[in-house]
Amino acid sequence: MGLLALGTALDWPEAKTKAHHVRAWGIKQLLEIWNKAKVKERDAMLWGDEVEYLVVTYSKDDPEVLLSLRQADILAALAEDKSLSKETGAPASPGGTKPLKNDPPPVFHPEFGRFMLEATPGKPWGIEFKELLNVEADMKLRRTIAKAHMLPNEFPITLTTFPRLGSPGVFTEPSYPVSGSKLRSQFVPDEIANPHIRFPTLAANIRSRRGRKVQVNVPVYRDEATPWPWKDPTVNYDLHQWPEDDDVRNGAAPDNFIHMDAMAFGMGSCCLQITFQAKNIIEGRQMYDQLSPLGPILLALTAATPVYKGFLADTDVRWNQISKAVDDRTPEELGEKPLQNDRWRIPKSRYASNSTYISQDPRLRPEYLDPNLVIDNDIKQQLLDGGMDDRLATHFAHLFIRDPIVIFNEDLQELDLTKTDHFENIQSTNWQHMRFKPPPADNSIGWRVEFRPMEIQITDFENAAFAVFMVLITRVILSYNLNFYIPITRVDENMETAHRRDAVLSEKFYFRRNLFSAKSSRGGSGSSTPRNSSRPPTPVGPVEDEYRLMTINEIINGSAYAGTDSSEAEGDDFPGLIPLVESYLDSVNVDVTTRCQLATYLDLIRKRASGELWTAAKWIRHFVQTHPDYHKDSVVSEAVTKDLVGKVIEIGEREVKGEGFKGLGAEVERLLGGFK
Ligand code: ADP
Ligand code: MG
Ligand code: MG
Ligand code: MG
Ligand code: MG
Ligand code: MG
Repeated sequence: MGLLALGTALDWPEAKTKAHHVRAWGIKQLLEIWNKAKVKERDAMLWGDEVEYLVVTYSKDDPEVLLSLRQADILAALAEDKSLSKETGAPASPGGTKPLKNDPPPVFHPEFGRFMLEATPGKPWGIEFKELLNVEADMKLRRTIAKAHMLPNEFPITLTTFPRLGSPGVFTEPSYPVSGSKLRSQFVPDEIANPHIRFPTLAANIRSRRGRKVQVNVPVYRDEATPWPWKDPTVNYDLHQWPEDDDVRNGAAPDNFIHMDAMAFGMGSCCLQITFQAKNIIEGRQMYDQLSPLGPILLALTAATPVYKGFLADTDVRWNQISKAVDDRTPEELGEKPLQNDRWRIPKSRYASNSTYISQDPRLRPEYLDPNLVIDNDIKQQLLDGGMDDRLATHFAHLFIRDPIVIFNEDLQELDLTKTDHFENIQSTNWQHMRFKPPPADNSIGWRVEFRPMEIQITDFENAAFAVFMVLITRVILSYNLNFYIPITRVDENMETAHRRDAVLSEKFYFRRNLFSAKSSRGGSGSSTPRNSSRPPTPVGPVEDEYRLMTINEIINGSAYAGTDSSEAEGDDFPGLIPLVESYLDSVNVDVTTRCQLATYLDLIRKRASGELWTAAKWIRHFVQTHPDYHKDSVVSEAVTKDLVGKVIEIGEREVKGEGFKGLGAEVERLLGGFK
């Protein structure tokens, strides 16, 4: 993220007048890099992960745990540490984490929340299987380094959300009064956001473009003693400082929903992202498409977000809340008013599951695409005129229906085709579950694809497991030329399904029956042999026959392991993603040590899918509901929050010290298994 660029950030009314300007230049920059990079070949198969942290202040004697707002100081301390310079390489971490010799040290990044940090490896990971064993150690090293640059009572933790963000009373250190001019939130102060002008401007301009505050409403979990209908007791209907204080009087806070009103409630969440470099643009487009249908499955598998603003929620994941927290659509775009000033009705927030496929793969049937996809036809025409193919032009013409939100006046003086800043302005504020990343302006690296839906996990063991699993799945997709296509709108539906409480075990997801099929799925007659990729293509049948509803257990572990009786529906045996990974590993040369370590990662995922192990969402929910200070009324008190975060810190400290999790209780074992 180019945080150095400073200047005069325009307020929305003015930024709006420059939106076309930014889009026009953004398209020119896109065409420039596309023309330069479309022929790039043989880029290395690199990949990298991003881990996000909350920073909390905690001590055994303090009654409450708070969010520390010292992001800038911590980043400054990290930057000043000479032992973390590129020249010296990564330091040995205390407490058992192996140093990664000759590697540059991890990189720390700012994030939206002033209580957040992000860390990436010092350089991307390579193709070798052995590299996969360094990921967990590197993640632990990052956590150790981060902690070493904090105060003794500060800790980096990997909960997706702080359970009492926005609750009445004090929840940050230091504490500030609410209702600042940028967010105008009645729950969180402006100081909750990174003070770099980009972030408050982003929040303020989204609010301003919408014409009201964002409405992040999450269904509350109805427990035995939860009053019903439930009215969020923390909402204040009597504020009269900002025009937006009318929002709640106009129905922004419906019954039975936890009501939140600011970008921080979404962009203050932590996730785990993986970026892959493809060997060329064709492979990048293939990876983008094939990983898309896996998004909702991995979202449900990594579920870790059952609490908001001091209440148990009836959902398990963060996704929709972030989506609502940055939803800048106007009433016209939302379809609440007839179109007059705006150009389109737009069905989704700019943070949402991706809405189109981009590959020229002949297996991509037109029926998989959304006929109602909103695109900017002028932009598309410019891209076509510039030589881009229809499908990729459609993708970018869809991203470019959005306005740029943060515009610096200084950047509009002269078009610089050696930069991609205007393109990135639109691209990087389209927060979809996949991102297709063109090379940077200097064309120094290749086409990349980012997988973005996963929730951050409490331990680095789990984060490494999910990162490694995605790497292996990607290798399997490319080696076996797997076909995961289903209609993109079914992926949207799956994304919604993934939110439901315990979706990982209780829900079914649309998934492709035959991953090996060229076109039609049901294959010929006789028994299904999904691993047989040499079956001749059969006539194309209805798209609806190509997929069916499956449990995540079936998708991950296969029908046989999952005990699914698919005998009645012929051809419905599903091989399972883990068995596919296993057979891929059997077919390549992996040494025993590596294979054993990979097995512990695959085991975690296998058992999360089967229910043998709990998701973090289930663990947190259980922790809250069995706490002596919980009164079956959905309220997650300060005492519960303190103990929960205390437990998470203890798990994290044990992990980086290599001490194992024994003695932390049966519940922790249900989360992590007996691996460690
Ligand atoms: P963003 O926040 O825009 O997604 P970051 O720089 O925070 O980008 O993270 C990008 C990730 O991609 C990091 O893990 C980094 O190691 C990785 N990465 C960097 N260069 C490459 C590359 N050429 N191929 C694959 N991954 C890369
Ligand atoms: Mg980023
Ligand atoms: Mg990043
Ligand atoms: Mg980030
Ligand atoms: Mg208090
Ligand atoms: Mg990223």
